[in-house]
Order: sequence, then C-alpha cells, then structure tokens
Amino acid sequence: MNDLSKLCIHTMTMKPWSLPEAIDHFQNRGIGGISVWQNAVEPMGVKAAAKALEDSDLEIVSYVRGGFFPAAEEAGRQKSIEHNKVMISEAAELGAPLLVLVCGAEPTASKVENEEQIIAGIEAILPWAIEHNVVLGIEPLHPMYADTRSAINTLRQATRIAQHFGEAPVKVVFDVYHLWWDPNLYVDIDEAFAAGKFAAYHICDWLVPTNNMLTDRGIMGDGCIDLQKIDQAIRKHEYDGFVEVEIFSEKHWAADQEEYLERIISNYQDIYHSSKHV
Ligand code: ZN
Repeated sequence: MNDLSKLCIHTMTMKPWSLPEAIDHFQNRGIGGISVWQNAVEPMGVKAAAKALEDSDLEIVSYVRGGFFPAAEEAGRQKSIEHNKVMISEAAELGAPLLVLVCGAEPTASKVENEEQIIAGIEAILPWAIEHNVVLGIEPLHPMYADTRSAINTLRQATRIAQHFGEAPVKVVFDVYHLWWDPNLYVDIDEAFAAGKFAAYHICDWLVPTNNMLTDRGIMGDGCIDLQKIDQAIRKHEYDGFVEVEIFSEKHWAADQEEYLERIISNYQDIYHSSKHV
C-alpha cells in the first residue's frame, strides 16, 4: 500500500520549494515522478536543472507549460510560436517526453477563430516537437477560463483537435479539475483512449465553495469530485501511467510544506489504492 512509484507531483504544487528541494523531498518519500514547471527551472537554468533531474531517481513526466496560441495580431501569434519552440527545446533538454499545452484564448476573437488559431499554432510547432521527440499534450481547461486561458474546454474538443493531427504526437492531458463537471465525461474518456490520444492524468479536488478561480484547488478528498469513479473509468482502459498531483493553493503554499506533502501522499493512497481494487 505504500507504493508511490506511479505518483507524480508538479513543482507548482509545492511552489515554495526550489527544484532541488522538491527533488530531494520527493525522492526521500519514494515518489516516482515529477512534472516540472518553467518557473522552477528558471532560477538555476535548464542545464543545471537537467543535471539535477538526471542525478535523481525521479522520472520527469512532463514540462509545463506551452500554448497560448491565439492573439489579436499576427505578430502576437508568431511570438507565441517562437516561445513554444523554446519550451520544446527545454523539454527535450530536461528529458521530458511531454509538453503540456494550455492553448490560450483571445477574448476579441470568436470561439471558432480561437480554435483555428490554436490548430495553426500547433501545426507550426509540430515539426519542431517531432524533431525533439516531445509529445504535445492539449489540456482542456474548465470553461471558467474560456475568456483568456483556453478556448479548449472539453475532453471531446481536445481529442478532436488531437485527431486532426492523425498519428502525429499531439495528444490530450486529462485534468479532473477541468473536466469533472462534464456530463459527457465518461464517453469522452472512452473516445480519448480509443483514439490512442490519452497522454497524462492530473488530479486535485474542487473545493466547495471555491474562493479563487486560480489558486484555490483542494487536495484529493477535500472537495466534490468523484475521483474514484473517474479513476475507474480511466483504469478500465488499462492506463498504467503516472497520476500527477497538480494543486495551486495560496492556503497550502502558506502552510508547512512537509505536512502538506504528507497529506497529499496519504489522501492519494486512500483514494487511489482502494479504487484500483474495486
Ligand atoms: Zn492540469
């Protein structure tokens, strides 16, 4: 019951820790994976971060995050493509197999135009991703972010865009926080797997009430998401990849980080180890 080899934690979850601190703590607890945000790499630089990760026992699961393709002007869209290429290069240097894409949204453009700009952006960076052996993972975001953060808001929409690229390494990133409300969720999970497009699995919980749209996510078990039912729907497809804890929380960032990590581990074990045996 203590196996944490498939548990991955995002550096942003433990925001007060530097990358070396996060690596040390995760490793000491027997956690298997780490997803690395660019802000955790910046203070030490990509080379040193790559070395620290390579010297650790942790597997780097993903690099976070690229995307933000739509813009009101062509120059803005071009700038985004250049930025995404840098993110792909950094992901490759760090040894991350996946770059998470938060696709972006331009509030002055229509939903259709936003989607077209997102597809055009992915198309523009895809050869660079293939050359660097990095999978692009489209993460649909909760519709409360549809104004500026992402015009991709359901798993179905993300899977359809990934399928637009056929066999190319464009996949979807599943996050319970963004998708739990969707009445089509279980059908959409089946479709994402049937299409061979399910790339990553993020967890946390939706607090009731939620006091901040960005930084009030809960530890698994503290909110209203039916995490076990969702997990069973994913395990049905023999998913055996990492389960990634991604929590943004001013409250938890202000608390003792070691205690916070212990609660994450203990709730993960309670919810996910029992769910596997149902
Ligand atoms: Zn996520």
